[in-house]
Amino acid sequence: MANTGVPVKAMRETALYLSGFQKRDLHGLNLAYDGTLTIDRFMHRGRAVRQDLNQWIEANLERHHVDVHHGRATFVDAYTVRVEDETEPRLLEAGVILIATGSTPHRPSTIPFAGPGVYDSDTIQHMERLPRSLAIAGGGTIGCEYACLFKVLGLDEVRIINSGERILPFADSEISTMLREGMESLGVEFHMPDFVERVDATPALTLQLRSGKQLEPEALLVALGRRSNVAALRLENAGVWLDEHGQLLVNEHFQTNVPHIYAAGDVIGGHALASTAMEEARMAMDHAFPFGGRFRLNDITAGLDSTSGVGAFLPIGIWTIPEISMVGETEQGLLAKGVAHTVGRWRYDANPRGMLLAEHWGLLKLLFSLPDEKLRGVHVIGDNACELIAAGLVAMTLGATCSTLIDTCFNYPSLSDLYKYAAYDAMGRIDRGDVYRPWAPAQPPLYPQKTSSRNSSDTP
Ligand SMILES: Cc1cc2nc3c(=O)[nH]c(=O)nc-3n(C[C@H](O)[C@H](O)[C@H](O)COP(=O)(O)OP(=O)(O)OC[C@H]3O[C@@H](n4cnc5c(N)ncnc54)[C@H](O)[C@@H]3O)c2cc1C
Repeated sequence: MANTGVPVKAMRETALYLSGFQKRDLHGLNLAYDGTLTIDRFMHRGRAVRQDLNQWIEANLERHHVDVHHGRATFVDAYTVRVEDETEPRLLEAGVILIATGSTPHRPSTIPFAGPGVYDSDTIQHMERLPRSLAIAGGGTIGCEYACLFKVLGLDEVRIINSGERILPFADSEISTMLREGMESLGVEFHMPDFVERVDATPALTLQLRSGKQLEPEALLVALGRRSNVAALRLENAGVWLDEHGQLLVNEHFQTNVPHIYAAGDVIGGHALASTAMEEARMAMDHAFPFGGRFRLNDITAGLDSTSGVGAFLPIGIWTIPEISMVGETEQGLLAKGVAHTVGRWRYDANPRGMLLAEHWGLLKLLFSLPDEKLRGVHVIGDNACELIAAGLVAMTLGATCSTLIDTCFNYPSLSDLYKYAAYDAMGRIDRGDVYRPWAPAQPPLYPQKTSSRNSSDTP
């Protein structure tokens, strides 16, 4: 993460700062970037933060007396790893092994990555100068983050080509629809559902789409998922199995089919986030060394019901503009599972702090199961979404209900107060019977898209 995600986040902060994006509407200023910066200067802050982070990680490893061997690791057998470095190979033996080799961008063979102007999510960080127009294949996390970043930086044209009907299909559909609207208002254009069928990189970049359209962007970013780094490991020497997609199989303790060999992070797939990777690795090592840690995960979760295990509540943060974050169930997930529930929403522009920020896109959406009124999902779009999620995440981990949030006193004026008002909104819906019950006769959708992002008129 320090080497991939952090520079992108730093670029985003720099882009927001340079463009005056956040302040523009408030103060009537327009500090638009004039396009004269090179990408190298633009990456300055990212490099500095990455260097600091890497130094901090190295110091931390040293402080914990961890021996670090730089080089490429391959399995010799189930207890021995060979490390090839610049000098001589070393053999390391261990009773417990954790595979955390991460992932690399998927590069479809049909795309000429050697051609000028063709990038993946790793190489785009080394682009020499900003293009005027950029096409992005893929409407997932990386594609959407880069699209917002480059549009805010002042590129004339940023287009996303996405094969699905929705960007970020794993997100709550109301939030991903709002995000698309937010991105469109920045000027990002969408071609979806559509597909990049052919790319010609010489003499100029030409994309042939399945719909028959042809695009001629100055640069192409391919963000079509990532692949686990397993090929070089020689897992067969350790007897570790992969599934038919080349994915490492692990159980709930992150053990592979060879019980003392664990795997965590991007290499096992899933949401491929640094936060999740660190938590998985911690849980894996907690299982491998049950009496080794001072703080035991099970101590924290002891006494919670079976649905509130820590692994069930891994948050997702996406640094698009507007930012989004989520944890737990989505509304479509609860509907698909036939879980009785209701929704509570509150918009930033009906919250004093949100008004100060003038955050037009902001919304907090809470999902409560019924009849227990437990918090099952938290979805945020808008400024500081990735921070604001934390209150909901802790509340869910501790088994909070709608009343817990109503009974909590939040700072004023603060975005956290959105939790209280979204909970009031949910309570109002429960009182009015505005809830989804799987056993009820078929009825029209409860929350039509056009009005869904508005707050209930039921103010407390
Ligand atoms: C552009 C971008 C933006 C992102 N933004 C975010 C974000 O905002 N928030 C977030 O939570 N996540 C983000 N991520 C995802 C995050 O970076 C990854 O989920 C995280 O780094 C995964 O950690 P990991 O330890 O599993 O793998 P990695 O961090 O990839 O580490 C794996 C390491 O293993 C090494 N390795 C591979 N094979 C071998 C081998 N055979 N021998 C020895 N070493 C080997 C690799 O060189 C690498 O150093 C982003 C990713 C990208 C690409």
